[in-house]
Amino acid sequence: MRDTLPLLDNIRFPALTRGRLETLQVNVGYRCNQTCFHCHVNAGPNRTEEMSGETADIVLAFAERHRITTLDITGGAPELNAHFRRMVVTARRLGVRVMDRCNLTILEQPGQEDLADFLASHEVEVVASMPCYLQDNVERQRGKGVFGGSIRGLKTLNAVGYGRDPRLRLNLVYNPQGPSLPPPQAPLEADYKRVLGQQYGIVFNNLFVLANMPIQRFGSMLVTRGEFDGYLQLLQDAHLDANLEGVMCRSLLSVDWRGYVYDCDFNQMLDLPLEHGPKARPHLSDLLDRDLARNPIRVAGHCYGCTAGQGSSCGGALKEAAE
Ligand code: SF4
Ligand code: SF4
Repeated sequence: MRDTLPLLDNIRFPALTRGRLETLQVNVGYRCNQTCFHCHVNAGPNRTEEMSGETADIVLAFAERHRITTLDITGGAPELNAHFRRMVVTARRLGVRVMDRCNLTILEQPGQEDLADFLASHEVEVVASMPCYLQDNVERQRGKGVFGGSIRGLKTLNAVGYGRDPRLRLNLVYNPQGPSLPPPQAPLEADYKRVLGQQYGIVFNNLFVLANMPIQRFGSMLVTRGEFDGYLQLLQDAHLDANLEGVMCRSLLSVDWRGYVYDCDFNQMLDLPLEHGPKARPHLSDLLDRDLARNPIRVAGHCYGCTAGQGSSCGGALKEAAE
């Protein structure tokens, strides 16, 4: 795989500093029941990286100490981590909103038969990647059989109240298949609701539309095809200063499965650790008593993926999300 960091590091981006910390986004490991083509952590059934119970405890202590409002749990398939449910239960007890980045097909895996009920009973917000409402497009990105499994997963979640009960939020995530800007969020969400509703009887709350980041497999593919410079130019030409205020790194901290800390998930994937204090690679345990407000954010060319056009954050388009 081609490393895009040297190319991204040559591109200037406006300086950013952190604001008030609200969200802890935690990657609990790379094990997954799927092996998607575009997966930015190269997850799969044979990956062994997994957050330990000790690190999970540090995450929970940090959440309590810093009065984190949202714990966003991702992977791999985060539900496969042995400490996932304990983290959910403890965080909810602390009054923290919990998001599960769920791949939907996990709901059919052995041992996960009660997952939908578990998530519902703790009012966990489910965020699920659904790159299209058409079978061919989904399976080209995510593998054969994934579309049917995802539809069954959505139906299972609907059956326990997701998308219907206002306390049980079910959001889907879309990203373009290639090097283009994502389409406007509101009309695409309406299309998804119409097709999934009419054909499968599925309901959900919101569709988050995100740009593809020129990193990992997608970035490498662009380099190989000679499309990297063109895509970066497209993102830079569409940059809007107004989106800088809402980029997620201003209020989010990203934690890897070992407990090391980054300004966002993309920086985690580029191995650009948070710059704070004397250590080149700060650990969450180093930051239990630290206030990160006004800390500089490590920016590079990939950041234009967050500020191009309607903008992208973990809550979808910035302009529309704010409306
Ligand atoms: S479901 Fe998600 S984590 Fe698993 S392989 Fe696909 S993209 Fe990666
Ligand atoms: S990629 Fe986006 S979220 Fe990450 S540091 Fe850049 S602007 Fe912030």
